[in-house]
Amino acid sequence: MLRLPSFTYLQPKTLAEALRMKADAGPDGMFVAGGTDLYPNMKRRHQEPKTVISLMGIAELRRLDSTTLGACLTLSELTAPSRPPDRLTAAVSTAARLVSTPLLRNMGTLGGNLCLDTRCNYYNQSYEWRKSIDFCMKKDGHICWVAPSSPRCWAVSSSDVAPVMVAIGAEYRLLGPQGERLVPAGRFYHNDGINYLTKQPDEILVDVRLPKPNGWDAVYHKLRRRGSFDFPVLGVAAWIQWNGKTVADARIVLGGVASYPQEVPEAGAALKGAPLSDEFIAAAADAAYRPSKPMDNTDFDLSWRKQMTRVYVTRALGELRDRHR
Ligand SMILES: Cc1cc2nc3c(=O)[nH]c(=O)nc-3n(C[C@H](O)[C@H](O)[C@H](O)COP(=O)(O)OP(=O)(O)OC[C@H]3O[C@@H](n4cnc5c(N)ncnc54)[C@H](O)[C@@H]3O)c2cc1C
Ligand code: SF4
Repeated sequence: MLRLPSFTYLQPKTLAEALRMKADAGPDGMFVAGGTDLYPNMKRRHQEPKTVISLMGIAELRRLDSTTLGACLTLSELTAPSRPPDRLTAAVSTAARLVSTPLLRNMGTLGGNLCLDTRCNYYNQSYEWRKSIDFCMKKDGHICWVAPSSPRCWAVSSSDVAPVMVAIGAEYRLLGPQGERLVPAGRFYHNDGINYLTKQPDEILVDVRLPKPNGWDAVYHKLRRRGSFDFPVLGVAAWIQWNGKTVADARIVLGGVASYPQEVPEAGAALKGAPLSDEFIAAAADAAYRPSKPMDNTDFDLSWRKQMTRVYVTRALGELRDRHR
């Protein structure tokens, strides 16, 4: 059985108190929300904080209205039938509902999902397993077993909700010792398996600002081995701004194929100014297929996952078209 190491657990009631506790703990302190990612990682010694600061008692992180989603809302709360029924938040709810199992969605939060550690078959293993291969550069070692000559880590962004936030153009409100800043979701992520966030370790993700529904629509489609429980090996978030029956603007964002939610600008460009016909959907799916380069470090054969990019983009755009008839 994997055991948690011992650590000090703190429960601030305000953001200011949480920031003070983190400053006192220094690099040995980490924030936790639902703990469904951090605690398993601590059991495998991926992260080894001496002080864990829970954000769950801070009321400001639980805000919920049609344009603001607090970071400590649980994924279950985002999928509750009482959610305001607008289409943008519907895409967020769909992605949240597709995360894992009801138990994990009851514990796991929006903020934790958006800050989720990147994943890799050589990393998400026990300490002893990792030691038996002399570790890897993401933690405790020097080499990347997926691409041994590579100077970087290719661990995979595996959040279901993050691609949707990038696609719809959401903004994240961060608070740290230097004050507050608003970051577009697309600039919150790095394509690097180790430094996958632009957020500083002492910054708290306070909430997510959704753009006003204004002729936009968005959907999320997820590929995984089992219809429940599994992480995405491909996620497709598609966003369209309509001008009558024509696409005024579009964004296609892929999850599960890179170390960040990967927007494919060529796919969006293929749709601009066009009707969402089979011909233009095929052009966008083809444009998304080309830069989709899954690595051999999650589930399924990587060439099949790449081919599924075309299929899932076609399905996502088909759903958007059907909803706009
Ligand atoms: C078996 C299993 C299956 C899973 N399947 C999926 C899946 O299919 N799809 C998916 O997307 N995820 C999946 N997850 C991962 C995880 O459960 C969810 O992503 C969940 O939403 C994480 O939220 P949390 O609150 O538990 O995060 P935590 O574990 O509390 O935190 C995760 C990270 O985010 C940081 N953090 C959390 N909140 C904040 C904040 N407000 N400000 C700054 N930093 C913060 C923490 O310091 C930590 O580094 C799975 C997990 C397990 C164990
Ligand atoms: S991609 Fe390479 S460095 Fe990154 S976790 Fe996997 S094996 Fe380790």
